[in-house]
Amino acid sequence: MKKSAFFLCVFILVSWVCLWANSANNENGQFFRVYFKDKVMARLAMERFEAGAMEISYTDKYLVMLLTPEEYDELSGLNYTLVPCPDYDVHHSRCPNITREGTIPGYPSYRLVEKTFEIADSICKALPKLGRIVDAGDSWEKTQGIGGYDHKVLILTNADIPGPKPKLFVTGAIHAREYATSELALRFVYYLIKNYGKDADATWMLDHHEYHAMFYINPDGRKHAEKGEMWRKTTNTDYCKSTPSKRGVDLNRNSEYSWGTMGSSDECNETFWGPKAASEPEMQAVQKYQDQIFNTTPKLGGVYIDMHCYGEIIYKPSAVATLARKFSYFNGYDAVTTRGGQAYEYAFYKAGVAAGCLFELGTKFFQDTTYFEQTIVPKNLQALIYALKACRDPLKIAEGPDAITLSITNKVLKATIDDTRYGQTVETQNIAGAEYYISTPPWISGATPIAMTATDGAFDEKSEEVTATLSPEYLNDKAQVTIYVRGKDASGNWGAVSAIFYNQPNAVIPANELKAPITFTFPHPLIPPATIRLQLPHAANIQIRVCDLKGKSVATVLNQTLGTGAHSLQWDGKNNAGNALPYGMYVFELRAANSVWAEKFIMVK
Ligand SMILES: [Zn+2]
Repeated sequence: MKKSAFFLCVFILVSWVCLWANSANNENGQFFRVYFKDKVMARLAMERFEAGAMEISYTDKYLVMLLTPEEYDELSGLNYTLVPCPDYDVHHSRCPNITREGTIPGYPSYRLVEKTFEIADSICKALPKLGRIVDAGDSWEKTQGIGGYDHKVLILTNADIPGPKPKLFVTGAIHAREYATSELALRFVYYLIKNYGKDADATWMLDHHEYHAMFYINPDGRKHAEKGEMWRKTTNTDYCKSTPSKRGVDLNRNSEYSWGTMGSSDECNETFWGPKAASEPEMQAVQKYQDQIFNTTPKLGGVYIDMHCYGEIIYKPSAVATLARKFSYFNGYDAVTTRGGQAYEYAFYKAGVAAGCLFELGTKFFQDTTYFEQTIVPKNLQALIYALKACRDPLKIAEGPDAITLSITNKVLKATIDDTRYGQTVETQNIAGAEYYISTPPWISGATPIAMTATDGAFDEKSEEVTATLSPEYLNDKAQVTIYVRGKDASGNWGAVSAIFYNQPNAVIPANELKAPITFTFPHPLIPPATIRLQLPHAANIQIRVCDLKGKSVATVLNQTLGTGAHSLQWDGKNNAGNALPYGMYVFELRAANSVWAEKFIMVK
């Protein structure tokens, strides 16, 4: 041992003794930075002391952990370097000066339970064709008549197209303090309703598949976490009566699948697995719902993802390896094999979903909103889009190549078929073929595949550009048709379908789709206050109104002459009398010279 290392150890030891001498104020232990050498060591520490691991930095290679003396002894004997971190504040990422109505104080990205449900309700009222809510059961507090919540599930699909349809089911907040989970499930809702009718993939996914979001498996516990408490379990007072702050059950140790193999039988432990398998009403509700949507005849594939924070890891059964590595291409998380006894395992081993897994999002429980908005949301939305695309037969589709970069110019369809899009290492093959479909996707009987050719003349690479001239005999006289593209690899695996809208130049475009040569954008769905942006090719008098669906003007947003270039204006969601407009569907109408441009939007509050 080097002299400096020796003094460091003495320093740590002395600090440790001093800390413990002063630690009566923290019955759970003391904070340490636990330095690791690689991701495997990081995962081992997180899995061994899951409840005490507060955050991770993969860049600087340390975890912050709350450790008891026994845990300290165990870790320090295992090649980790432990440095006391006595001033650690679990809320160091809070933005104390930012408040946003309906969100967790200091964390303006994360909505409160009530707000999330209010948004879900308003979406269903405004878009009854796309959204509906089912009540999957009651939280423990509700079963006791002391408040509590329904297990609301928001289902998005186009109700005009009959089922049964394959489903993607996402759950959040089984562990109360894992803030990012529920909000990510909601952001995917926003992504889908915003792009439905505009983006061909979002449109066919909601026409032919279903997205089910149960934002909170543990809403009772979540209300404690919303107050800033480091709350993980349920609030069931039957357990750990002596210390109410440690009461409740770890729902992700309470599932019927291999119950009692991971976690603790100690009622006061953060991983208490409950008195028996599925003892808790929350777990019963989740399992019943999984049975109901996945255990069907005939089987319809399906994907289930239980969202957690944190660690940037995907836990999955070994059979789901290739799909998990497809997800890992998008979110960069390492896919590792399962641990035992959890909600997603019930879905996979008992309810019969084709693919079940668990995402550990981000780097801490109380994730800073910047990292959430800039990293967690964009990366995981891509993974969720893939999950919804592939949920018809996820394990098989994940073996195949992706169809990307679709374009149509002068009736020439182009795409790239790519078999290399996997995180970590997966054996990939050369592309062997590609085909497209007009209007009717491949899984519907009677759909007509039309072959595409390799642009360079031969299918002999892992990523091939493919092309075809759209066949006029199949193009109907609709203004817009959907073109579906998919490719297969040399092992015969067809990958996920991607689609593009083809606007037929000779078809009659309805007047309300006329666009002025002006760029005009606004958030959709719109949560006031909203920023509206304009880009003018030349100075013009611009009128912007908000109308109801009958065409009656309800608010004047702008009526003035603006100069050339970019403009942005704020709208507070209020009518001309200064009152907030109720949630619902409205139309933004922009008039400039003789042009009228109108687009529907949904306003949520
Ligand atoms: Zn968790």
